[in-house]
Amino acid sequence: MFDNAYYQEYRRKKEEEWEALCKRCGGCCGIFEDPCKHLKKDDNGKYFCEIYNDRFGVRESVGGKKFKCVHISQILNRNWFNDRTCAYKINLKMPWLKSLK
Ligand code: SF4
Ligand code: SF4
Repeated sequence: MFDNAYYQEYRRKKEEEWEALCKRCGGCCGIFEDPCKHLKKDDNGKYFCEIYNDRFGVRESVGGKKFKCVHISQILNRNWFNDRTCAYKINLKMPWLKSLK
């Protein structure tokens, strides 16, 4: 029989693992080019989204450019400046390096 509680817990853990991969470099939010207005830096020099739980949709860069914020998995086939350092892109090419993050 399908155990929904087990499945939800499994999904939650997988989502946590996925989120933990991110190095918070800010690259996918434009930090090396024209950053999103909602991109902020914490005291440790890491970047974060100030509206993370409500981020999807049309947003604006500091330079005034409108763009659509989507889940990172939807833009991994695109390129942005310095994207070779993105943990998800590295993980796609070399998943065995995950533990070396
Ligand atoms: S709204 Fe989207 S693009 Fe802007 S900082 Fe948040 S996650 Fe990045
Ligand atoms: S470019 Fe990749 S590693 Fe950097 S903040 Fe975006 S998702 Fe995270």
